[in-house]
Amino acid sequence: MSGGHGKHSGTPCSEVLEKLYTYIDGELEEPNCEQIREHLDECGPCLDEYGLEEAVKKLVAKHCGCDPVPMDLRDKVLGRLARARTEQLAREARTESPGTPA
Ligand SMILES: [Zn+2]
Repeated sequence: MSGGHGKHSGTPCSEVLEKLYTYIDGELEEPNCEQIREHLDECGPCLDEYGLEEAVKKLVAKHCGCDPVPMDLRDKVLGRLARARTEQLAREARTESPGTPA
């Protein structure tokens, strides 16, 4: 699945990044955790472009499993997310036309 239509699961990357950030920061409820996991399972850009794959999956798995999240991992992911959100928002603002080829 590598379509550039951003139509999978109905949740745009920027929204997921936003949620993920809030989620890791500890303010998001459990049901959203599933949504984030599903998105990350399907979304190439989130994993490849933002380098979130390993760290985030580990973090989400731990967090969802009620294990304490290591601070260094948490900081690392939060830092990446902050940058990824900025990039994503800038890109979406620039790319006004839908269906941009990869
Ligand atoms: Zn995504």
